[in-house]
Amino acid sequence: MDTTEAGARELDRADPGYRDRFAIPPAEGGPYPETAYFAGNSLGLQPLAVRQELLEELDDWARLGVEGHLEARRPWLPYHALLAETAARLVGALPSETVVMNSLTVNLHLLMVSFYRPAGRRTRIVIEDSAFPSDSYAVRSQARFHGLDPDTTVVRLGTGQVLDYLAREGDTVALVLLGGVNYLTGELLDVPAITAAAHAAGAVAGWDLAHAAGNVPLHLHEWGADFAAWCSYKYLNAGPGAVAGVFVHQRHHGDPSLPRFEGWWSTEEATRFAMEPVSRPPSTVEAWQVSNPPILAMSPVRTSLRIFDTIGMDTLRARSLRLTGYLEALLDQTLADRAVTVLTPRDPQRRGCQLSLRVDDAGQVARRLRADHGVCADVRNPDVVRLAPVPLYSTYHDCWRAATALATVIGDRS
Ligand SMILES: *Cc1c(COP(=O)(O)O)cnc(C)c1O
Repeated sequence: MDTTEAGARELDRADPGYRDRFAIPPAEGGPYPETAYFAGNSLGLQPLAVRQELLEELDDWARLGVEGHLEARRPWLPYHALLAETAARLVGALPSETVVMNSLTVNLHLLMVSFYRPAGRRTRIVIEDSAFPSDSYAVRSQARFHGLDPDTTVVRLGTGQVLDYLAREGDTVALVLLGGVNYLTGELLDVPAITAAAHAAGAVAGWDLAHAAGNVPLHLHEWGADFAAWCSYKYLNAGPGAVAGVFVHQRHHGDPSLPRFEGWWSTEEATRFAMEPVSRPPSTVEAWQVSNPPILAMSPVRTSLRIFDTIGMDTLRARSLRLTGYLEALLDQTLADRAVTVLTPRDPQRRGCQLSLRVDDAGQVARRLRADHGVCADVRNPDVVRLAPVPLYSTYHDCWRAATALATVIGDRS
């Protein structure tokens, strides 16, 4: 493999990606003007189109006031429906199965109201032992809400132990709630196999796709997942705290036995303004909506989803495999003799675009990468540095810079 800087530039000419559609932060340090940005798994970069489309919403509000609900160029009342098709294609669902609303952890709670229903012996919630803290707090608080002891109700397993556990103890499991791609290691789980095993055990299969949506192709409808939720500010590039997404499988739509928390956006659109005291929920995922959509926050999500939709997740995944493979090969060469291990699976089919490195004093490593080399990486203290080459805007030259800079920073210490 050609590991030179010229080699990286050549690869960029042959496989340029979509960088010109994004605002790339200027570098703090190092010889290059732009940051080599590897933190798209934490906060994605801003699509240039966001500003214009957001300004259009502001203009409509200024021009129309309340009439914008019906007369804005994109009317606000049914605004969420403008995002349903692109969100559905992103996660492999029907438009009636996806809705953009709230934030991720709030959505997990709303979904657990319907899909975590402990009964008899079947009370446990299975999560991964390296679950994101918010998910862990959410399921523990759900256990307490049902009067259960979170220490015995929530079972934390290694990702390799889940299938065994379901085969052995499946009749005690009410809900399996796992990250499709683990936030720390970047491991991509076998979503269809685990979903099938959960169902075979009589449990519900829910997925947190915070690190999977916009990173790997998903087929939630076909895989039969019961529900899923994801945020829109990581790979989806819709801005800090962006409005999140939800999937509920069609087979649960219109089921009157499922409890749900409702508000005026849970009722069918046709009679929403009849101002009746009792709701009439539609037989779609929209029944899980509660409030009217925050237009100024939905606008960047709409812009972002359209970018994914026009390029296509399969095209992005193909470029992702090339870029991540290139970064991995560079790291293997430049870090061969150093005290660095890769936590992420080596099989490209078992990971997304993130490589997690275990390295002493990760915080110090990341600070030097940024200040001295203009490389932005993400740290999970004490000893993990995460690098995510994002197929939309990362380049081979970014990967070359990261590998070269890491070798320098870690080499200087030893
Ligand atoms: C990023 C992330 C969250 C964040 O939750 P918010 O509700 O968006 O603040 C939760 N869970 C996982 C797995 C994440 O990766």
